[in-house]
Amino acid sequence: MDILSVRRLAGAELDKIEQGIRPSGFYHQKAVRLKSACMAIESNGGLETVFSLPMHKLYSLLINIKGIGRETADSIILYGAGKPTFVVDNYTWRILSRAYGRENEYDYQSLKKELEGNTTRSARLYMEMHAQFVELGKRYCTKSNPNCVDCPLSRICAYRKNTSSKSR
Ligand code: SF4
Repeated sequence: MDILSVRRLAGAELDKIEQGIRPSGFYHQKAVRLKSACMAIESNGGLETVFSLPMHKLYSLLINIKGIGRETADSIILYGAGKPTFVVDNYTWRILSRAYGRENEYDYQSLKKELEGNTTRSARLYMEMHAQFVELGKRYCTKSNPNCVDCPLSRICAYRKNTSSKSR
């Protein structure tokens, strides 16, 4: 199946796309959305043109495509276009809201703004940070029963401080 380009996916039959992504689950819905995203990119001049747009215009184009939310739009901008925008995924949100002692206070935009305001705007740095948050979230800061004892953030984490003082 030789349809691995935005242009070809935009013109491909849905069942052909479905065949290619079947193992990923929800393949019908994903095929529809993938095709419509590729069509939107093509109708705006193609991938190269779209990726060369200023970041706010690229974000606005992506977020208006059905099926693309904030995290996906930011992921495409960071990893696809190589532009410096921070991706706030569930791991990042959980780790930082616990570490800052602000669980349930942050929303996507406020956490993103805080991160970007306190770091050098660099795509490479944001990719590295994102990877580190994912790893830390998987290894230590799990949804239930975080392993705070072994976590590298334990000395500065508000959640850790609160839970260890309560257990004394
Ligand atoms: S110390 Fe605990 S709550 Fe804090 S970031 Fe690490 S695992 Fe998460």
